Amino acid sequence: MPKLATFRAKRDSSATESSTSSTFSSTSTSSTSILHVDMDAFFVSVELLDRPELRGKPVIVGGQPDERGVVSAASYEARKYGIQSAMPLRTAARLCPHAVFLECRHHLYSEWSDRVAAILGKYSPIVEMASVDEAYMDLTGTERLFGPPFAAAHALLREITATTGLPCSAGLARTRLVAKVASDQAKPRGLLWVPAGIEETFLAPLSVRRIPGIGKVTEAALQAAGIETVRQLAAATQETLEQNFGRWGTALYRKARGGDTYEFLEDAEPKSISHRPQRLDRYTHDPLRRI
Ligand SMILES: [Mg+2]
Repeated sequence: MPKLATFRAKRDSSATESSTSSTFSSTSTSSTSILHVDMDAFFVSVELLDRPELRGKPVIVGGQPDERGVVSAASYEARKYGIQSAMPLRTAARLCPHAVFLECRHHLYSEWSDRVAAILGKYSPIVEMASVDEAYMDLTGTERLFGPPFAAAHALLREITATTGLPCSAGLARTRLVAKVASDQAKPRGLLWVPAGIEETFLAPLSVRRIPGIGKVTEAALQAAGIETVRQLAAATQETLEQNFGRWGTALYRKARGGDTYEFLEDAEPKSISHRPQRLDRYTHDPLRRI
C-alpha cells in the first residue's frame, strides 16, 4: 500500500542538505527527484467531462454571476479576461458577461482526485496530496521500474490524461520549491524539468511572487526595498534580509536559491487512498526500499 506521507518543516532550518530525522538521510539531496503534479483548472476540467460542449469557452466554477461568492476555478479561456480564483463572482461577470457559471460539486472533485492519486501511487510509493488537485512525489530510486525521472514523469502525465481525460502539468526538480515553481511555469499541459545545479538560473528572471510562500505582504515589502525579481532577491545578503525580515529573511535567502525546508518524513501520519494499485504490494511494505 502506498504511503501518502505528509511533510513538515525541519526544526533546524539552516540544515537544508540533510537531516538525521529524515527517512532519506542516506540520500543526498543532489540526487533527489521531486515531482510536483498539478491539475490544470481542476474543477473546470472535471465539469467539462460532463459537459464537453463547454470546451473552449470561458467557464467559471463557484456559483452564479449574481451571487456573493467567489470564483473557485476559471477555465483558461476565462482567465484571458482577467478572471482569477478568489475573485468575486460579480466582478468575474462584469469582466466576462458571456462566461458560463457553474456551481461547485466538491464530491465529484474528491472522487476524481482519488482516481488521480491512485495513478500517482503507481509511480512512487511516496506521494503526498498537497490539496485536492496537487501532489508532491519522490521519484528517487524508481528508475529500475520506470526509467529516468523525466521519462517517468512524462509517462505519468500521459497516463493521467489518457485515463481520466483531465489535463495536468508537472515540474521535476531537486527540491519541492523548484518543482512547484516549474509546474506553475509549465501550465497548461506541460512538463518542466529543472536539472540540479541550474535552480538559481531558472528562478532568477521570475517575479518574487512566483516563489511559494511569498504573498502580497512580502512582495510589497520587497518592492519597497527595490526587489522585484528572484535575481534581485538572490543578490541580497542573508544579513540584510534577516535585518529586515527576521527569521523569515533566512527563509527568503534560502528560497531565492531554490532551497526549501520541507521533506517527506516516514513518521508523519500516513493517509491511505481508496484506489490502491495491486502491483505495488510487493514492495510497499517498506516505502523506502530502493527498487
Ligand atoms: Mg491546480
